[in-house]
Amino acid sequence: MKRLYIKTFGCQMNEYDSMRVARLLAPLGYEMTDDKCGADLIVLNTCSIRQKAEGKVYSMLGRLRPLKQENENLIIAVGGCVAQQEGKKLLGRMRHVSLVFGTKSVSNLPAMIKKIERSGGRYVDTGEAEHRETAFDDAFDHNKGDSKALITIIEGCNNFCAYCIVPHVRGRERSRRAHDILDEARVLVRSGVKEITLLGQNVNSYHDSSNGTTDFPALLRKVAATNGLERLRFVTSHPKDLTDELISCFKELPTLCNHIHLPVQAGSDRVLERMNRKYTRGEYLNKVDKLRKVCHNISISTDIIVGFPGESRDDFNKTMELVREVEYDHSYSFKFSTRAGTKAAGFDDDVSGAEKSVRLSELQALQKEIIFSKNKEFEGTSASVLVEGVSKTNEELLTGRTTCNRIVNFSGDSALVGKIVNVNITKAFMNSLRGEAAVDH
Ligand code: SF4
Repeated sequence: MKRLYIKTFGCQMNEYDSMRVARLLAPLGYEMTDDKCGADLIVLNTCSIRQKAEGKVYSMLGRLRPLKQENENLIIAVGGCVAQQEGKKLLGRMRHVSLVFGTKSVSNLPAMIKKIERSGGRYVDTGEAEHRETAFDDAFDHNKGDSKALITIIEGCNNFCAYCIVPHVRGRERSRRAHDILDEARVLVRSGVKEITLLGQNVNSYHDSSNGTTDFPALLRKVAATNGLERLRFVTSHPKDLTDELISCFKELPTLCNHIHLPVQAGSDRVLERMNRKYTRGEYLNKVDKLRKVCHNISISTDIIVGFPGESRDDFNKTMELVREVEYDHSYSFKFSTRAGTKAAGFDDDVSGAEKSVRLSELQALQKEIIFSKNKEFEGTSASVLVEGVSKTNEELLTGRTTCNRIVNFSGDSALVGKIVNVNITKAFMNSLRGEAAVDH
């Protein structure tokens, strides 16, 4: 048995790719370990959407150098967006790395690892040499026994937001065939999966014309009809592609969870236009209203960038007003950082680092206030929780998520893992809720 350590950086798309990597390498005798020091193969699955994430990859690679010095047979491989973007450059900079593989070449990984095991060497495969239609050629990569699973339905992005590297490294949108997605959903549910998340950089522009036309609402309806499926989610949605028909799915489909991640990025029309987001503040708020009309307790999360080139104090204040108005249940907020190769790299990065930090702190303080007050509303209520396992921070507690995507830690029997149970919420914290498993009478 050989040990495989995987470190995943960034987004949920990468989590899915890491699951694929583990599954693809299992036939070669690799089993997952949490201990990188005892690993035979270390895979870093990287993300370059923020400059900070890319920096973290290089610093982790630096920390791995002594492990390679101690064990010359250790194979270190780097995949994901940084690998796709840097290719040979990364191999040149990091002499202890044996393999750089891109987002388009995950399915080649077993062959490449075999080659390295057999005869050593150092390789780059970013999938440029051959045209690969989709990244879906080795689907069904899931661990047995999981109660939750991710299914990638669309890869790449056509939107070219001015700050974003994704379309440049992941390529144009490619939708997977609906028929294959439905097959996969059925297999997953039969193997015990209760919750499926449909995944893509922009899921709601999904479009399959291989056998009639299936757009995203149609796909959602079909997946929701999978016999035995209890929960369905999707991530990430572009606000411009959130149609009335998709909004009505929140009312129509009982398995569709009451949560949507709807990245707004900024609250000022001027900034949204420079970002090339293709919607206005008014259009975005209108969609939020419609969502709340069809599903009054829908939980909404978002992404926000502060200090985008040209963002004035007045623009930023509009973002703050929008956050107050929407009252997001959760948000991921970041200071703008230039990504080479994007349109925004040609803009004057004119908001100082200090001012970006001030804006980010103001925004995060406001968001914390909102989240805590919304979490408090759960005290004294009962929530349906899909139990994921034992809490990482307290072995005496189980942990799971509500349909609105809140983490709930609660005392209960470990036999509940993998089940959906009612939990009485006793206390709210900033990032989680605490409770007790409800006793059935
Ligand atoms: S929609 Fe915009 S932010 Fe999202 S992946 Fe595409 S280009 Fe990037």
